[in-house]
Amino acid sequence: MSAEKHALMAAPDNRRADGRIELVGLSRAELEAELARLGQPAFRARQVWHWIYYRGETDFERMTSLSKELRQVLAEHCAATRPGVSRAQHSLDGTRKWLLKMADGQEVECVHIPEEDRGALCVSSQVGCTLTCRFCHTGTQRLVRNLSAGEIVGQVMHARDQLGEWPSPRDGRMLSNIVMMGMGEPLYNYDNVAQALAIVMDGEGIGISRRRITLSTAGVVPMIRRCGVELGVRLAISLHAVTDEIRDCIVPLNRKYPIAELLKACRDYPRAKNSRRITFEYIMLKGVNDSVADAKALVKLIAGIPAKVNLIPFNAWPRAPFECSTDEQIAKFARVVNDAGYASPVRTPRGRDILAACGQLKSDSVRQRRAAA
Ligand code: SAH
Repeated sequence: MSAEKHALMAAPDNRRADGRIELVGLSRAELEAELARLGQPAFRARQVWHWIYYRGETDFERMTSLSKELRQVLAEHCAATRPGVSRAQHSLDGTRKWLLKMADGQEVECVHIPEEDRGALCVSSQVGCTLTCRFCHTGTQRLVRNLSAGEIVGQVMHARDQLGEWPSPRDGRMLSNIVMMGMGEPLYNYDNVAQALAIVMDGEGIGISRRRITLSTAGVVPMIRRCGVELGVRLAISLHAVTDEIRDCIVPLNRKYPIAELLKACRDYPRAKNSRRITFEYIMLKGVNDSVADAKALVKLIAGIPAKVNLIPFNAWPRAPFECSTDEQIAKFARVVNDAGYASPVRTPRGRDILAACGQLKSDSVRQRRAAA
């Protein structure tokens, strides 16, 4: 399947169908400008920011530090809403998956993966994906559009609502980390992802530190440096193969940005120098990329990069053209990488029973249409 078959549509702006302005997703400067239009000074924007992002308030009436009059003006002209929920699922292992509905009816998935005393939220950056990686279910979804900054932040705010984590707790959060590993390629929607992450990192609001945010890319080489300089978040690379021949086939983006260029961008990644490790994700596909020789080649490829290798057992989906490597083969592969001095944890699949694991995300509307066909 060629990437050209996927037309990429732009994200919607913040003007709602009812004419009000959606405030969630505006940068601080944009929020100030919006309130200035309503005749309000800059400090009001700071108060509103606090209500929206620190307290999680969605009802202007309850923003009690603002005058009654202003609350009414805001309610008339603005909104601070959440995405709708088309479906909520809870896995036996505690993982939760939400199919969220955007204002135009498009849907994306968002997954919360709890650990003992913390938890990560897997956030989507696009509806669908243009990359068509052969092992990924999301890539079989045709319709693709970018998410707006507000729609990306909205996923985090929705999860916070569900976890009851307002006002922003300082410690003991179950939403402590964010991984940009949901649907879509975040570096193909860089501006909106960057704006969303700036909002999420803002200390007077949601306040999740850049050290707890990981952006995963299939390797959009020209954007990697900017991601490091401007966002300073952790980087994960979906490497998945050690030769261009195999990678061209399973991650078609490799034809544009081959392995050598990708690894050069990793070596130059600004954060890597501060001993901040880059994560290489490597999917274990039986008989495709999982031999001991592949493991040895992998270690050679990443030599000199402060790195860890995350081995991801392939998660199957209906009619997927691959099988997962055996546990024994994964263990052999991990040993080679580990012996070379790289941490090589095997990612425990979470939420497999609700198709919430890596590569299984796809909006149900599509699944159901297919099922009916
Ligand atoms: N486009 C970005 C963000 C998506 S991240 C990227 O490619 O990195 C999703 C992660 O899950 C990627 O590492 C992806 O390669 C991996 N993945 C996709 N399909 C999978 C599957 N069926 N089983 C296991 N991992 C998969």
